[in-house]
Amino acid sequence: MPPHNEFDGIRALHDALAARTISARELAAGALDAVAARTDLNAFLHVDPDLTLAQADAADQLLARGAGTCLTGIPLAHKDVFATRGWRTTAASKMLAHYVSPFDATVVARLMDAGAVSLGKLNCDEFAMGSGNRNSAFGPVRNPWNPDVVPGGSSGGSAAAVAAGLVMAATGTDTGGSVRQPAALCGVSGIKPTYGTVSRFGIVAFGSSLDQAGPIARHARDLLEVLDIISGFDPRDSTSLETCDGVPNAPGRIRGDFNTASQRQAQAGGHPLEGLRIGVPREYFSAGLAADVAGAVDGALSVFESLGARRVAISLPHTALAIPAYYVIAPAEASSNLERYDGVRYGHRAEKYGDLNEMVSRSRSEGFGPEVLRRIMVGTYVLSHGYYDAYYLQAQRVRRMIADDFARAFSQQCDVIMGPVTPTVARPIERGAESPTTDWLADIYTLGVSLAGLPALSIPCGFSGGDRPLPVGLQIIGNYFSEGRLLAIADRFQQTTDWHRRTPRQP
Ligand code: GLN
Repeated sequence: MPPHNEFDGIRALHDALAARTISARELAAGALDAVAARTDLNAFLHVDPDLTLAQADAADQLLARGAGTCLTGIPLAHKDVFATRGWRTTAASKMLAHYVSPFDATVVARLMDAGAVSLGKLNCDEFAMGSGNRNSAFGPVRNPWNPDVVPGGSSGGSAAAVAAGLVMAATGTDTGGSVRQPAALCGVSGIKPTYGTVSRFGIVAFGSSLDQAGPIARHARDLLEVLDIISGFDPRDSTSLETCDGVPNAPGRIRGDFNTASQRQAQAGGHPLEGLRIGVPREYFSAGLAADVAGAVDGALSVFESLGARRVAISLPHTALAIPAYYVIAPAEASSNLERYDGVRYGHRAEKYGDLNEMVSRSRSEGFGPEVLRRIMVGTYVLSHGYYDAYYLQAQRVRRMIADDFARAFSQQCDVIMGPVTPTVARPIERGAESPTTDWLADIYTLGVSLAGLPALSIPCGFSGGDRPLPVGLQIIGNYFSEGRLLAIADRFQQTTDWHRRTPRQP
């Protein structure tokens, strides 16, 4: 077990680093050994011990001078869709198998500036398209709770690495659930912030109007430590927000809101969440939700009631339409974003071809895997002349209706919305007779939030039955820019429960 696991979260580890009772180098070396010992998970795609240890040494020098931040020397890792200068950036695709970026993504740069030590790059679904990390060109990731089931996706390597204790935190991206869903299926915590609060600069693009980066960690408090650093306006991302409801979009915003909410909770005494109205959408508890998931989520809601919150029955009537709307909009944006991989400028180029057209088409059909090709086909079709109005425009209208459902609930009925993240616990890696689009249906509870651009997090709230119990996640959705408050609510829950402290058996 790497040494960072002896510490109860980033703050505790930071205190030990600052007191010099442990060094960043010891932490990094221990974590690198653990990563090497867990290749069975296939969570890491690229490691470079020299680079990692050099970062750790730099962190130690800062710490020795009494400088640095709370993240200085903390071991973490990045989903392989974040551009990184030292490590390859492949998006888990054969198309980018040898690509090394000349620059760092803003998220990566901010974490490096804060002194965090990167252990390398994490496996994911190819171009972040998928829900089980089965679509990686470099093989599936295994769930640390049971190697025969998926870790979730697309940030499956990130969630598996945190769950297995290889890193304290990891970055992920969420286009339609890819931070929340793998966090739920691996029994760890993850947050997708409001669209536009974290820079997309240097993140391999999938669906540009949906993509957001967010951290995965064991504790909600650790999510705060990472998210507060990576969020903030970035002039290099045209959709990055300068302000959030009048407050500058800058580090400190989320922490400030978290502190205010936590103080209020502390002052409320025995019922810290007194007055909190939890909207429970009828549509999230309909047929298709497995009994063990429903039971764990209901148990979590009872915990919140014991803390003073109350449940309010609400309706998000267009929930079922999130799947068709998302699976038109996301592929449409993907087909446009992935146009750049033509074998000319970068990425895979076919070896044999007759003319330019054949070079492009062969390079693309060889470089992309089946799910990516499927999305490109769907996307190109729905954007084509004659179908644009019928599909793409219609999907955009539905997207507005879904956002309006949430807006109505938050303005009239509730402060936060809670429900399941996924309809079932993690499913077998072997697909069997299952169609590849079966996965799409399991995104039902996460897609609406993404289409609306809202923040939401997932925290562990229980386990399924049977001899190999698998984790269940609780989704907490808030209004725009409420990340700090959501994290404070999650933190309160984690002070009362210990689901987030459960760890899978080591092999
Ligand atoms: N499962 C969804 C998809 O396959 C979401 C993926 C994501 O959030 N990156 O598109």
